[in-house]
Amino acid sequence: MKLYLATGNAHKIEELRAMLAAAGLAMEVHGPAALGGMPEVVEDQDSFSGNALKKARALATRLPSGACALADDSGLCVDALDGAPGVYSARYAGEGASDAENTDKLLKSLEALGAVDRSAGFQCHLALVSATGEEQIFAGECRGRIIEAKQGEGGFGYDPVFVPDGFSKTFAELSRSEKAGLSHRGKAMEQLVAWLRSKGA
Ligand code: IMP
Repeated sequence: MKLYLATGNAHKIEELRAMLAAAGLAMEVHGPAALGGMPEVVEDQDSFSGNALKKARALATRLPSGACALADDSGLCVDALDGAPGVYSARYAGEGASDAENTDKLLKSLEALGAVDRSAGFQCHLALVSATGEEQIFAGECRGRIIEAKQGEGGFGYDPVFVPDGFSKTFAELSRSEKAGLSHRGKAMEQLVAWLRSKGA
C-alpha cells in the first residue's frame, strides 16, 4: 500500500516517517510533494479530528488508486488556560508565528497567572482517508507540565517547555525514539499501526 502524508510540516513528516519505519509495515511512505504538494487547507474546525480530516480529504483528491492519505492535527492544551492554545497551537502568537514566538507567548500567559497548576496535555488526532473515501481517526494524548523556561534543542513547537509525566526532561531533551515511545503522536500511531496490521499491511 502507498501512504501519503498530508502535512507540509517537515518535523511531523520526520516523526511520522520514523514511526512508520520502526513499525516495519510493508508500505511505501511518501510526503505530499510526491502528489504535487499539500493543497491549501483552511484549518477552521474546532476539533483536532475535524482539522485532520480536512487535511487528509484534501490530499486524498490527488491519490492514485489503492493509496491512502494520512494527516496529523495536534496541539497543546493547558489546563490553567482552559485548554488553550488547543487547535490554535500553530498560530497562538498570531498567523505565521514561529515556534519560538508561540512558546514565548505561552510562557508569558502562564507567568501572568502566578502560582497555578501547570498541567497540560499534548493531543494528536490522525486521519486516514483512502482513495475510495473510507475514513478512520486515531487519537493519542500525552500528559505532562509546562516548565518556566525553555530547555533543550531537539524536537519542535512547544517541546522545550513540556515535561511529560514521570520524566524530568523536556520533549526537546529526549531522543526522537524516546519521544516517540510516549508522545501523543506515538500513541495515536500505535493505534493506526494496529489497525493497518489488522488489514494485512
Ligand atoms: P497543526 O499543524 O495545526 O496540527 O499544528 C500543530 C502545532 O501544535 C504545531 O505547530 C506545534 O506548535 C504544536 N505541536 C503539535 N505536536 C507537537 C509536538 O510533538 N511537539 C511540540 N509541539 C507540537
